[in-house]
Parts: sequence; C-alpha cells; structure tokens
Amino acid sequence: MADRYLHLTGTAPGRFLTRRLGLPQPAPLRRWTLETPRLEGPLLHLTAGASAVTGVAEALSRSGLPVVGDTDRPAAIVLDATGVATAAGLGDVHGALHPVVRSLAPGGRIVALGTVPSPDDHHQAAAQQALEGFVRSLGKETGRGSTVQLVRIPVGGAAQAAESTLRFLLSPRSAYVSGQVIELTTATPGPGPAADPAAPLTGRTALVTGAARGIGAAVASVLARDGARVIVLDVPGAREELERTADRLGATALPLDITAPDAAGRIAAAVPDGLDVLVHNAGITRDRRLANMPSDRWASVIEVNLDSVLRTTDELLKAGVIARGGRIVATASIAGIAGNTGQTNYAASKAGIIGLVRSLGPRAAADHGVTVNAVAPGFIETRMTAAVPLFIREAGRRMNSLSQGGLPVDVAEAVAWFAQPDSTAVNGQVLRVCGQSLLGA
Ligand code: NAD
Repeated sequence: MADRYLHLTGTAPGRFLTRRLGLPQPAPLRRWTLETPRLEGPLLHLTAGASAVTGVAEALSRSGLPVVGDTDRPAAIVLDATGVATAAGLGDVHGALHPVVRSLAPGGRIVALGTVPSPDDHHQAAAQQALEGFVRSLGKETGRGSTVQLVRIPVGGAAQAAESTLRFLLSPRSAYVSGQVIELTTATPGPGPAADPAAPLTGRTALVTGAARGIGAAVASVLARDGARVIVLDVPGAREELERTADRLGATALPLDITAPDAAGRIAAAVPDGLDVLVHNAGITRDRRLANMPSDRWASVIEVNLDSVLRTTDELLKAGVIARGGRIVATASIAGIAGNTGQTNYAASKAGIIGLVRSLGPRAAADHGVTVNAVAPGFIETRMTAAVPLFIREAGRRMNSLSQGGLPVDVAEAVAWFAQPDSTAVNGQVLRVCGQSLLGA
C-alpha cells in the first residue's frame, strides 16, 4: 500500500506544510539497484584510542568504498572504538565523531566497532556497553535517511570476521536497518569472500517458506539475484501465486503446508544435493486479546510460526540435508521483542524464534558448521500490514527513526547478508529491520 505521506513530504508545498506543523520528515531511502550498488562518497576511518582488534584497515579496504582519514563529505564513517576500556576513554568517542557527524552525506552510514563487554572487567564492560546507548541515541539524531550501528568483534579477534557485515551495513542494502548491535563470534570466515562478488551465492541452493508473496517472495528474489538456485514454498492454496513467483524468478515451486507432518521429508526430497540456505519466513497472525482468544487461534499461530520451524529445522539438521557452511534464517518480529495488544499468540511465537536462534546457533555451528540467525521486521509494507486499521498503520509507519515503513526488500537484504558464504562469524543474532522502531529495545 502506497505511503502517501512520504510522497507528500517529497513535494515542496508538502514539506513546507508538514514542517510548519512539526510533523515527521521521512527522507526517501536509497536502496540497492544495479546502477547504484554502493554509497556515493568516501568512507572516513576514525579510531578512538588504540584498536583492540587486528585488520580493521584491511577489512574496510574491502568494503567497496574508498577509505580516507579526512574528508569534507563522508558517505560513511567507521569509528574503531574497540580499545575503549574506561569511562574516560569514552571522551575519545566524542572527540572523534563530534567534529564530523554534521558532515555525513544524506543517506549516510555510521558504524562503531566495539568489543564484547567483559564479564571479568567491569570498567571495560561499562565503557563498551556505553557504546550501545551512544549508537542508539545517535541513530535517533542523524536524520536524512542515515543509519547508525554497533558491531562487536571479540577482543583480540580479527576484523576479517566483520567483512560481510561491514559490506552490508556500509551499503544501500541496509537502508532500513538502524540502531542495531551485532555481536560477532570468533569463527573464521570459512571459504572467504565469494569468487564472484556480484553473485556470491552461485552454486548454492536456497529454500524460502511462505514465498508466494510479500517478504518471502522478496527474499527469494534477492537470493536469486545473488546467484542462488531457489526453491519457493507456500501452501497448496497459494499454488497459482507461487508458480507465478517461481516463473518470475526462475525458481522451483514447492506447494506444501509447512505444518504437514512430512514437510521436512518433502523438502529433503526436493533438494537431493542438499540445502545451503533455509529461510523460515512463512507466518500468520490470528489477533485477539487473550480474554477473547479461542484455543484454535492460539494453536494455529504457534504451529505455523514456531513449532513447524523447530520441527523442520531439527529434522533437516539431523538428516544432514543442510550442508556444512549452511545458513538457517528464521523470521521473528519486533512484536516478539516489544509485545503487542491482541498478539499474545503471535508475539509468543516470534519471541520463541529468538530463543531458538540464540540457543541453537552455537550448537549448530559446532555440530554441523551451520549458522542460525533471525530477522525481526518492524513495520513492512505488505498485505499483512495493509490489513491493519488506518490509524494504527500510520502510527506503525512513523514511529521509527526513519519515519516510514520498510519494504519487503529491506528484510530480504538482511537475510541475504546472513546467507553470505563469509558470514560465518554472524551466528545466533537477531537483526531488527525496523528503521529503529520506538517499540522494543
Ligand atoms: P504475508 O501474509 O504476505 O505472507 C506470508 C506467506 O506465508 C503467505 O504467502 C502464506 O500463504 C504463507 N504461509 C502461511 N502459512 C503457511 C504454511 N503453513 N505453510 C507454508 N506457507 C505458509 O506476510 P508477510 O508480511 O510477507 O510476512 C512474512 C513473515 O514476516 C511472517 O513470518 C511474518 O510474521 C513476518 N513479519 C512481517 C512483518 C510485516 O510488517 N509485514 C513484520 C514482522 C514480521
């Protein structure tokens, strides 16, 4: 559904009027296109004190942007704050960013690099945790479609582990991601960057559930763009729409209800050479306040959104269908973080997804060489949100730092980042794709 307010503020009279009324001023976001795959302008590399990780300059040199130590108009700023270990050291963060933050180009990116707060050193932990509050606040200040994130690299680790993450965050692909904290593991990036950077998933097979339309269809499209052989799965009732989506993407359609008892077996049969990327996207809502919610509405949401995800994941991992170096990406929601009136069933199912990825991620990596992560979309313009009543829909769109709803492609780009062959150190993470929604952490 078109965002008419965004269109209005894109016109001179509309901007004048809405400014006079003190209303939000959403900046049109620049997303990835074939013609504009990168941010336009240099990357300013700053350091607060001494770095506590190795290889930051090398990692930034592979971000796709020219790296400079000084510029009038950076498209991106990376502040290495990994060595900040005391409250006094936070002064270096202010000292580095205060003079340049105003010069960031519209639609720019700020990424702070930090380390994991130490359980043994409360001064280091305080200083590193302080970066989280700093980044989340700066995300609310920058405006003009700019975003701000914190990437934590293990102390003494190598910034090489952050390369795929930096490529994503320092590009138009992360247009609707802001105020996020990403904590990397010590895992080495494995096979390394793809041979063909324009098609990094070449030779990989991906399956996306709930892919006839909406976010799932966008995920399938972006994975296909990145070179993957894609299988799109949806309920048999959506067969026609599913086949149209499959035809459009050159994908294979698999009409299947993910809650069917033999779903994992049917998926395994569809991928005789194994599966590299499994995206659990299928989801439903059956909203009612708990006092009015019959047990069937509760059960169907838990079954589709959580139980079938647990079951198929377990069975496919156990049967060795998901290849080593594989990626599992599930779909949570900010409702699973913040809660929502009328959505006790939905929020429980989506919070359950967060529990699943945090617990299974480390074990799946150790036992199967597979990472497990989740996206948590905020307000995304799809048929699901078009059904939301007008005033709630408008509030959902504006109550975030970017003052607009996201598009399905924004979630899809995040899934594609998790799916990258060199995203091995990204595990057990929940990335909110919500424009830094005011709801939830
Ligand atoms: P959508 O309703 O447009 O698409 C969901 C798809 O899942 C549909 O094609 C549907 O047929 C399919 N599906 C439902 N039950 C299934 C089953 N049992 N087996 C196979 N397929 C099934 O929804 P969407 O907005 O694209 O949402 C996709 C995912 O993102 C869902 O998990 C949803 O909870 C989550 N999400 C969406 C938003 C948003 O703002 N749109 C926000 C947060 C989370």
